[in-house]
Amino acid sequence: MRSLFVVLTMLTALLAPPFGAAAQPSPQPGSPPAVAVEARVEADADRARLIFTLSKAVEARWMVLENPDRIVVDLPTINFQLPPDVGRRTAGLVRGFRYGLFAPGRSRIVIDLVQPALPVRIGSESIGGVVAAEFVLELRRTDRAAFTRAAAAAREPVPSASTALFSGRTTTPRAGDDRPVVVIDPGHGGIDAGATGIGNVLEKDVVFAFSQLLRTKLERSGKVRVAMTRDTDVFIALDERVRLARQANAALFVSIHADSLANGADVRGLTVYTGSDMASDAESARLAEAENRADQLAGVEQPANREDIADILDDLTKRETRTYSTLFARTLVAQMGATGKLNKNPHRSAGFRVLRAPDVPSALVELGYLSSRSDSEMMQTAEWRERSTDLIAASILDFLEPQIAQRAARGR
Ligand SMILES: [Zn+2]
Repeated sequence: MRSLFVVLTMLTALLAPPFGAAAQPSPQPGSPPAVAVEARVEADADRARLIFTLSKAVEARWMVLENPDRIVVDLPTINFQLPPDVGRRTAGLVRGFRYGLFAPGRSRIVIDLVQPALPVRIGSESIGGVVAAEFVLELRRTDRAAFTRAAAAAREPVPSASTALFSGRTTTPRAGDDRPVVVIDPGHGGIDAGATGIGNVLEKDVVFAFSQLLRTKLERSGKVRVAMTRDTDVFIALDERVRLARQANAALFVSIHADSLANGADVRGLTVYTGSDMASDAESARLAEAENRADQLAGVEQPANREDIADILDDLTKRETRTYSTLFARTLVAQMGATGKLNKNPHRSAGFRVLRAPDVPSALVELGYLSSRSDSEMMQTAEWRERSTDLIAASILDFLEPQIAQRAARGR
C-alpha cells in the first residue's frame, strides 16, 4: 500500500487558490507532452486520492463546479494512454472521472463527486525508474457551505479554442470564392467522449472519422466549401460551434452524432433532428438533454442568463431558417431511405443547443445507436462509412442545388 509520505512530500506550492482565466498552466513548447499510462483511485470514507502515472511531472490548476459537484483540473497537454473504462468506477467520494484535450495545449481532468470534497494536495512528483512521475490529487470531504464558497471563486469564460483551427484550414474563404459554405460539426471531442458503445467504442471517434470522410467527399464535388468545427480530438463548447457556423456565413450546418440507449439494445437506425422549442416526442427530448450536457461534462459553466442570440433576430428569419432546416432533413431522409437503415421515426425535433443559430439552416444527424450491437458493428465498417457519406454528401448538394445553380448562372 502506498504510504502517505509520498503525498506529503509532493509539491504543495500549486495548492494555492483555484485558478482564474489568466492562470492557465503554460505548455512547454517544443517538448513532447507527458504520457499518462495508468490511473487509479484510492479512497476511504473521508478521503480520495486520484493518481496518474506519467512520463514526466506536470503543473496543474484546479477549480470547483457545483450542480453537479465536480473538481476540474487543468494541465498542459497530456497524451492519455489509458484503458477506456478507467474513469467509470465509483470509489468513495469519487463517482468517476473523465480526461482529454480541452483546448490546444491544454488537457483537463473532470472528477464527478459523490459528495462535497476539496483538494488538500495537488501536484506531481518525479519518482524515477521507467515511469517518471506521479500526478496526485488528494480530496477530503467537506461541507456544502465550504464547497459552494470554493465554487463561487472559480468563474471561467468559455474558451474559443477552435477559432484558430477553423481559420487555419483550407476552408478559409478565398477572395472571389463564393461557393456556399457547409459546416460539418463532429460531435463531442477531447474530454467529452460522448456516448460509449459496445466494446467501449467512443462516439467522438466514430463521428470524427465519419465527418472527415464526408468533408473529403463534399470537397471533391468542387461545388461547396467545407469547414469543420474541430479537426482534431479536442473539446469545443456547444455555443462555440454555433458561433463558428454563423461566422462562416454557412449555408448549412450539419452536426454528426451517434446515440446510445441504456435500455435499447434493439433500437437502431439513422435519425435526423432539427431544432425546435417543443420536442417532437419524449425520446427526442431525452436525447437533446443528453447532448446539451456536453459542456457541463467538460467542466464548462453555461452562464445562467446569457443573452440569447435567437432573441435578437426577427421571427421571420427564424421561421425561414427552420423551414430550410426541415427541408434539408426531408432531403436527407429521402436519400437515406434507400439504405433501409433509418430509424422508424427518422425526422424528429427537439431543443438542441447546437441547432440554435437563428440564421443558419441546421440539422443534427444521429448516425445510429452505439448501444445496438448491429449498429455499432456496422458503424465501424469502411463499407458503411463509404455508402453513408456518399448519401449524406448527395443530400447536402441536393439541398444546396438552388444556390449552386444561381452561382453558376452568375458566372456565365
Ligand atoms: Zn452526441
